[in-house]
Amino acid sequence: MVVVGAGPVGLTAALLLARRGLDVLVLEQHRAPYPLPRAVHLDDEVFRVLQAAGVADAVAVRSRPMAGLRLLDGAHRVLAEFARDPAAGVNGWPQGSLVHQPDLEQELAAAAERTPGITVVRGVEVTGLSQDGTTVDITAVDRNSGADRSVRARAVFGCDGANSTVRSSIGTSLRELGRPDRWLVLDVVSDEELPVWPGAHQVCDSRQPATFMPVTGDRYRWECRLRPGETVAHATTPERLRRLLAPVDPRKVEVVRAVEYTFRAAVADRWRAGRVLLAGDAAHLSPPFVGQGMGLGLRDVHQVAWKLADVLAGRAEEGLLDTYQAEREPHARALIRVAQLLGALMTGGGPVGDVVRHRVLAVVRRIPAVARLATDSRTPPLPRGPLVERRGRAGRRLAGTLVPQPEVLAGGRRGRLDDVLGPGAAELVRDGAGLTVRRDDGTVLAVDDPSGALAAWMGGARAVVVRPDRIARSAR
Ligand SMILES: Cc1cc2nc3c(=O)[nH]c(=O)nc-3n(C[C@H](O)[C@H](O)[C@H](O)COP(=O)(O)OP(=O)(O)OC[C@H]3O[C@@H](n4cnc5c(N)ncnc54)[C@H](O)[C@@H]3O)c2cc1C
Repeated sequence: MVVVGAGPVGLTAALLLARRGLDVLVLEQHRAPYPLPRAVHLDDEVFRVLQAAGVADAVAVRSRPMAGLRLLDGAHRVLAEFARDPAAGVNGWPQGSLVHQPDLEQELAAAAERTPGITVVRGVEVTGLSQDGTTVDITAVDRNSGADRSVRARAVFGCDGANSTVRSSIGTSLRELGRPDRWLVLDVVSDEELPVWPGAHQVCDSRQPATFMPVTGDRYRWECRLRPGETVAHATTPERLRRLLAPVDPRKVEVVRAVEYTFRAAVADRWRAGRVLLAGDAAHLSPPFVGQGMGLGLRDVHQVAWKLADVLAGRAEEGLLDTYQAEREPHARALIRVAQLLGALMTGGGPVGDVVRHRVLAVVRRIPAVARLATDSRTPPLPRGPLVERRGRAGRRLAGTLVPQPEVLAGGRRGRLDDVLGPGAAELVRDGAGLTVRRDDGTVLAVDDPSGALAAWMGGARAVVVRPDRIARSAR
């Protein structure tokens, strides 16, 4: 099995596949990991993917819970604040965490290094591929020696980012869902702790929309939309920096990077051709407003790794892979739409929009249902399909949703539910004797759920079949 690209999605794919017993070769064009930060936010659902890959605890140590979201006007007055609980929530991790993407990639790379079955080869650029149904032939160039290389694999994951070669090799392309948006991304470090609230800030000023947040340690991120024709040099003059960073004095911090990024909303028309599958930025691109770009990619590989492992092991028909795009694309599109909508709501509408926002937010922030919506990290359920059976009352309510992850007691030990469910499918059964987990390897465990979170989620259901990616398949 070959994974093209050792970014966060490719490395996570490799770990998930190796944990299912597959030998994985990761081919990465660059000789060293990408050192510059991009993603800074991970939600609690995505942390469960890192948990499945065996790196969540290590990443948690290098990240920190996010306090929530503050919407500010152009003068940085708070229009609304939506707090997030820093304690572990319904998914067993803080609802939002701030992380330095190179730290995350370092943890993933270190885990890949020590995991038997994974080989990461850097400095090899994949140039094309062809397939005959059960094998894929990959052509590549060794950037160290200039020599051509060829590799034969039983399947290929194209996790090679926005300009994916794998995507063009299978004749598919990205469909734009909106206009590209040019932003300045500014990474700053400071010896002193800056007077910044420990959450994400969105400056809702149509003249100069911006986002800023403390990341981890001494790192801070500012992003602001570039005006038409404006360059990074124009947007980073001392006067502009003073206004952007206010009340922080730019002379007291070090700007480690100022770069232009074009944020896009786009989805590939076909995510799979035979044994070649696309994941992460190769399959979709999201604007940054809800911090989900990388999260979508990590969900992709979590939801397809077990299917691919089953197909390659002969436990399932090839057709199982048809469910990949059918399940993932609507979810990715939904979150991209939310990001576009939030971006427009927070920054669009010109000066009139600014006034309306000011008035409307002053009222709606006090409505508990709105606050819940703004801070709830739950993402949409998967659509009905062969692996999401919405039959019966319990099935209609639960199938396609993620099972909560409380701390439970099982076999005399306290632990997170996912670890108790094990790597395969499992059934949660509730009867007069209490709650039982029946794993597909035959293990049966009585489970104590002190928080009552599982019972509350199951409601009237007596049994729920949970897929290996922790999504409820059916309930009765
Ligand atoms: C400024 C900014 C802020 C962001 N903020 C967030 C956020 O808060 N939360 C979030 O979830 N996401 C965020 N994102 C998005 C996130 O960074 C990306 O979605 C994520 O990096 C995608 O991961 P990936 O592994 O799919 O692709 P990449 O990280 O791009 O990795 C692809 C890898 O494939 C390699 N490769 C490419 N072509 C080849 C080839 N032909 N042969 C071999 N190797 C190849 C590349 O060198 C690279 O290492 C942000 C992005 C930006 C730019």
